Amino acid sequence: MYKKGLYKVKSNNKIAKDVYEMVLEGDTKYITKPGQFINIKIDGLYLRRPISICEYDENSIKIIYKVVGEGTNLLSTFEEEKVLDILTGLGNGFETNNSGENPLLIGGGVGTPPMYELCKRLINEGKNVTVVLGFNSKEDVFYEEEFKKLGAKVYITTVDGSYGQKGFVTDVIKDLNDYTYFYACGPIPMLKAIYDVTVTSRRT
Ligand SMILES: Cc1cc2nc3c(=O)[nH]c(=O)nc-3n(C[C@H](O)[C@H](O)[C@H](O)COP(=O)(O)OP(=O)(O)OC[C@H]3O[C@@H](n4cnc5c(N)ncnc54)[C@H](O)[C@@H]3O)c2cc1C
Repeated sequence: MYKKGLYKVKSNNKIAKDVYEMVLEGDTKYITKPGQFINIKIDGLYLRRPISICEYDENSIKIIYKVVGEGTNLLSTFEEEKVLDILTGLGNGFETNNSGENPLLIGGGVGTPPMYELCKRLINEGKNVTVVLGFNSKEDVFYEEEFKKLGAKVYITTVDGSYGQKGFVTDVIKDLNDYTYFYACGPIPMLKAIYDVTVTSRRT
């Protein structure tokens, strides 16, 4: 069930190239699972902009977004105390009870944020979590330390090799054999490539 509400911006800081972390204060009781998203109304724009929930508690939501166009550009200018009209409780979210003991979490670019709350939950449940994050370049990388602080084993890949392992998330995943389940969020080509190195290659 979704719910419309008013949320106050508590902080809005740049954390990587064109990438911002925003904390919002307001009612979170309709958020039920990691991996859900919110839909933000931005003054002057007809369509709401969907952004994944990175982390939440009883009265705050953290999101991470990349400036790619008009809506996210406006979002990046919002200061503390700005009030936003937001829909919460959207999306199915991730189940943690399928994960087995060694779940693998894969995030591509701004597909990384929803993995954070999921990682927190899985670690609180006593699971050994491995996280593989893929970015284009060093200046795009974010949340490596945050995932490490939760207790996850973290691999970073960059396409240009300027940070972490050179290449794509699949260059790391193809050599990982002991994960029990995987969760992924990112661009469709990344998801197709993950399918190829996990499901397809294990059938042959
Ligand atoms: C479920 C979900 C979760 C997401 N989570 C994240 C996240 O955590 N972080 C992140 O950085 N990005 C996330 N995105 C992508 C993010 O929603 C887009 O980058 C953002 O909407 C772009 O808006 P913009 O106005 O800046 O760009 P624009 O270039 O203005 O918009 C991009 C294009 O999409 C169109 N458009 C914009 N909004 C809508 C809409 N609601 N319906 C149909 N067309 C639309 C615009 O008209 C334009 O053609 C998510 C997307 C989805 C669907």
